[in-house]
Amino acid sequence: MTRQRALILDILQASRGHLTADEIFVQARQTMPNIARGTVYRNLKLMEQSGEVGRLEMSDGPDLYDRAPTPHGHLLCDGCGMLSDVPVVGLVKELETAIGTEVRSYQLTIHYLCPACRRKNA
Ligand SMILES: [Zn+2]
Ligand SMILES: [Zn+2]
Repeated sequence: MTRQRALILDILQASRGHLTADEIFVQARQTMPNIARGTVYRNLKLMEQSGEVGRLEMSDGPDLYDRAPTPHGHLLCDGCGMLSDVPVVGLVKELETAIGTEVRSYQLTIHYLCPACRRKNA
């Protein structure tokens, strides 16, 4: 693993998850001032292909990269855009029973209003 790759993983790990490629680049430059934007983007693509990181396609913004040690779903707040992880193992197990075969991968984003936004709306 290259130093750049290790750094990108560290950044994602420290953020507990979800960053755009640009956010990763900005943070990477604090540690490696000479790192190029293209290097970060290229490494992210490679890491996605090898399954080290996940990529979330967002409907209204740049893709988010995800340091996902295990497959999980996401909760997206329609009020403030906050994205958090949610375990969906039980749900996927139920689906596997229903379809009679193994689920190989999934992207699951559940839209909701987070507690802070619910309070604001109340
Ligand atoms: Zn919210
Ligand atoms: Zn996630």
